[in-house]
Amino acid sequence: MSKRDMSLTSKVLVGLIVGLITGIIVFNLPKGVLKDDILINGLFQLLGQVFLRGIMMLVVPLVFISLVNGAASIGDVKKLGRIGVKTVGFYLTTTAVAVVIALLLGFFVKPGIGLDMSAIEVVETTVNPKTPLVQILYEMVPSNPIAAMAGGNMLQIIVFAIFTGIGLSLLGDKAEFLLNLFSALNDLIMKLVSMVMIFAPIGVFGLIAKTFATVGYAAMIPLMKYILTVYVGLFIHLILVYGGLLKGFTGLSPARFYKKFLPAMSVAFSTASSNATVPVSLELCEKELGIPKSIASFTIPLGATINMDGTAIMQGVATFFVAQVYGVDMTMGMLLTVILTATLASIGTAGVPGAGAIMLSMVLQSVGLPLEGIGLIMGIDRLVDMGRTAVNITGDAVCTTVIAKQEGELNMELAES
Ligand code: ASP
Repeated sequence: MSKRDMSLTSKVLVGLIVGLITGIIVFNLPKGVLKDDILINGLFQLLGQVFLRGIMMLVVPLVFISLVNGAASIGDVKKLGRIGVKTVGFYLTTTAVAVVIALLLGFFVKPGIGLDMSAIEVVETTVNPKTPLVQILYEMVPSNPIAAMAGGNMLQIIVFAIFTGIGLSLLGDKAEFLLNLFSALNDLIMKLVSMVMIFAPIGVFGLIAKTFATVGYAAMIPLMKYILTVYVGLFIHLILVYGGLLKGFTGLSPARFYKKFLPAMSVAFSTASSNATVPVSLELCEKELGIPKSIASFTIPLGATINMDGTAIMQGVATFFVAQVYGVDMTMGMLLTVILTATLASIGTAGVPGAGAIMLSMVLQSVGLPLEGIGLIMGIDRLVDMGRTAVNITGDAVCTTVIAKQEGELNMELAES
């Protein structure tokens, strides 16, 4: 890791910690203009949103441009196909494992037992994303690529970019001008990412301070166990599953990997958005982990869109939590259904804050649990969202590293440096 990156990492960490402390102090201030208007919805909001939007501004062009480049540079269509199948298979398998871990934890820890329901206001949910799987599949093909970009529909943008990239590589010499143009655009977008990242420590401060100044601990106490259970699940997944995969498939030290990938995890933690983290993940994969752009530019945006292991862990724990709160016994059939739906839900979950809690209603519905349960979880979801998003994007990078290694394209010298 270069000196500059190191100092950015430490600055982001300082932003996190100072934001947390400031947030807690502000949370204890009396309600009023200073607390609500000047700090929470003024300063913190401004700093956080400028950073967040700065990154979001880059996401659509970045995903499109880097994926066109990636697909074009892989060139060999068969190879993209093989990497594609492997990547999707890997993503879905790790997600299913994540749900199983979460269900085991939910069963043993019993986070919902002992919760005083009357103490919590049940918010009615109006969300009903009962999209059939077939529809999720065919809607990956954009009927209008411009609308897909305007609407930030990641799966559709990915499909269109892969088509464009393959088209360019099939055109060969005739497309030389366009290939050069896309490569120059890629340099530009990476430059823009570095420019926005200079603002990361302050942005992270604003986002974290706002979250902690808003969420009161009194309201959190009954749900503490739920939050802790999710975090235990996230850690188990991070250490055992990802650690095992890294060691087993690449021989890399998980500790070194995490150290290098920490800036991306901090951005994911503070933004709670996989999409927003894509630029940072990509940069670290290429510059720190020794993964070629041709692979990372395909697997990282795809992972940010369809691979949500952290979200699946939250959904597994949340399902048990809701079942316990409402006194429902989970049967074997229900458990299997949760594994299937939570895995599929992860494909449809957008990499934006809070999306996983919305998709949770699809999981609850599939096993007939009351949707009101979501109301219990929504208020504190941001705290869980931050952690699960960090795991979501780490899963993408771990998979990318494994695939690069299997393709014989992992720069081990750089990865181990
Ligand atoms: N915030 C998560 C992400 O962007 C999705 C979720 O809400 O679980 O990865």
